[in-house]
Amino acid sequence: MDEIRVRIAPSPSGNLHIGTARTALFNYLFAKKNNGKFILRIEDTDAERTSQSYIDNIFDSLKALGLNWDEGPDVGGPYGPYTQSERFDIYPKYVQELLDKGFAYECFCTPEELEVEKEEAAKNKKAYVYSKKCENLTEEQKAKLRSEGRKPAIRFSVDKARKAFHDSPIIHFEDLVKGDLHQDTSLIGDFVIMKSNGSPTYNFAVVIDDMLMKISHIIRGEDHISNTFKQILIYEALGVEVPKFGHLGMILAPDRSKLSKRHGATAVSEFVEKGYLTEALLNFVALLGWAPSDGVEIKTLDEIAHDFRINEVSSSNSVFEYDKLNWMNGQYIKKMDIKELTKKAKPFLSKYDLNELTEEQLEKVIAATREPITILSDLTNDVAYFFGKDIEYEEGVKETNVDTQQAQDVLKYFYSKLDEYDFNNEEKLHEQLADFRTYFKEQFGIKPKVTMWTVRAALTGRTHGADMGVILEVLGKDRVKYRIEKAIK
Ligand code: GLU
Repeated sequence: MDEIRVRIAPSPSGNLHIGTARTALFNYLFAKKNNGKFILRIEDTDAERTSQSYIDNIFDSLKALGLNWDEGPDVGGPYGPYTQSERFDIYPKYVQELLDKGFAYECFCTPEELEVEKEEAAKNKKAYVYSKKCENLTEEQKAKLRSEGRKPAIRFSVDKARKAFHDSPIIHFEDLVKGDLHQDTSLIGDFVIMKSNGSPTYNFAVVIDDMLMKISHIIRGEDHISNTFKQILIYEALGVEVPKFGHLGMILAPDRSKLSKRHGATAVSEFVEKGYLTEALLNFVALLGWAPSDGVEIKTLDEIAHDFRINEVSSSNSVFEYDKLNWMNGQYIKKMDIKELTKKAKPFLSKYDLNELTEEQLEKVIAATREPITILSDLTNDVAYFFGKDIEYEEGVKETNVDTQQAQDVLKYFYSKLDEYDFNNEEKLHEQLADFRTYFKEQFGIKPKVTMWTVRAALTGRTHGADMGVILEVLGKDRVKYRIEKAIK
């Protein structure tokens, strides 16, 4: 069998969308599963909507997700360049081939003339199909139009191409995901393949590129199904093998509308800025249309690649459940290697002076606060009391847990014991805290958890948070003494 070659071909008119990330992932998985190649191609023929910052964002996001491409910008490969705007010299030859074969023609219609046609169709409540006004122009007519300064666009002759290769106007293909798909080609107007300024349109450039890059399987969103029929006709007109196609269902928001900014983050980088881990994002998007054979949803990229089968991908739409993503992200935060997690957490701690803690202490802090958070940005607030001298009390905490007579007794006694505490030994600290709680329970009948709420409140301003042993150890004796002194009236 020929080599399996797939590609992701984003248009850089925005940051890498989570839906494109899923398409990239499914292509990547298909390549890995079949010992194939995964190719990145930047489709920037629409210069007005393209920007370098979006291109950079696409590269960075794919890399952050671990979806490294085998050929493409940066890494090269035998069929580059992999950015369409650098390939403009390649396309005219194939336009000429189609012109020569009679499957394309020059169209001199102005935008205004086409607008009149479109309005006419709209008035008659008909889907717009180009009138083919220019299909049979004579050489004299063309010369005259040229002499008026008109520059032709090139249109593909749908009907001629179809008749050359199919008996019926209805053409079919077997989709890897959706099964048999068909389209009545009489509803496809003769579309432009090259604009009058010489730039190729998407449907044409994509075919030439996929052909030259020897792409064997095209896996993409179902919003491209109508394009696929046009593309099949172009492949046939060029006399080359048609690749296999697989179209994925759309990703919908929880309200079943198209996923958009209104629902929350949509770009991979936005999710990362909010505190999602790329590992969790990747795992989550894999489940939008695919299900693991053993039912275990949390899986690494390699495990998913092993289990992935394109024909088992669901043909229907998937719903992007933000709650499920949050849960999954929490699972990853809980299990991630602590050094790795600490590194990823740092951008969310920029308001603190991280030099106050050693790396080891910071790791302890993160380890003690990583549960039950769901996104890394939750840490910003959750680690606040590990930094600085003073604390801020959460509302009502001081009045209820620190200022009462009973609380003041607890704090005074706690303070008196501090010199005996071993602040460099977390285990020992736990024992000492346990003795302390027992003392208050036995002497005064105060519930151990109430005693601890008081100490915790005086040290952190809160009634819940990290393990008390970690808090004492990281704060150290001086800061603990200082905060308890301040809490005592
Ligand atoms: N540039 C197209 C897009 O971003 C690629 C479509 C395709 O995969 O053919 O939608």
